[in-house]
Amino acid sequence: MRVAVYPGSFDPVTLGHLDIIKRSSKIFDEVIVAVMFNRNKKPLFSVDERIALLIDATRNIPNVRVDSHEGLLVDYLSKNNHQIIVKGLRAISDFEAEFQMASVNQKLLKELETVFIMTRTEYMYLSSSIVKEVANFGGDISNFVTDEVRQAIESKLGGGL
Ligand code: ADP
Repeated sequence: MRVAVYPGSFDPVTLGHLDIIKRSSKIFDEVIVAVMFNRNKKPLFSVDERIALLIDATRNIPNVRVDSHEGLLVDYLSKNNHQIIVKGLRAISDFEAEFQMASVNQKLLKELETVFIMTRTEYMYLSSSIVKEVANFGGDISNFVTDEVRQAIESKLGGGL
C-alpha cells in the first residue's frame, strides 16, 4: 500500500491545498494530511480547529486521513513507517525552500522520497496567509476557501465582515 504524507500548517486549509489533496488521493492508496505545529508560532486557528476544518473539507474523499505532529516531519515519518512526502509547488518562490527541505529530509531519512505536485494556475497565488490578510481587511474570500472555512475565519475575526 502506497501511503503519502502531505504536511503543512493548514492555517486554515484553502482550495489550493484541497486541490493537491484530491489529486494526490488519486495517485496514492492513502493520503495523510499532517498538520505540523510549532509552539513558537502564533497561528489563527488551534491545531484542533485546523484538523476539524480539514476533516470537514475532505469528508468526501475516502482515502484521506488527517493527523497532526509537533516537531520534525522526519520523526513523524519514521515513527509511522512512512516514506513518501507530497508537497504542492506554487511559484518559483516555493522552489528554493522546498528544494532545501527535500534535500535535508532526504539526508535525515534515507529511504524518503518527496513528490511535488504542481499547483493549478488558478491557485498559484493562493496561500493561507493571503486569505487571512484579505479577510482581515473585509475582502471576499469565497473563491479561496470552502464555506465552512470562510465562516470559521469570519467568526475568528469578529464576525463583522
Ligand atoms: P501556506 O500557508 O503557504 O498555504 P502550508 O504550510 O499550509 O502553506 O502548505 C502546505 C503545502 O501545501 C506546501 O507544500 C505548500 O507549497 C502547498 N500549497 C499551499 N498552497 C498551495 C496552492 N495554492 N497550490 C499548491 N500547493 C499549495
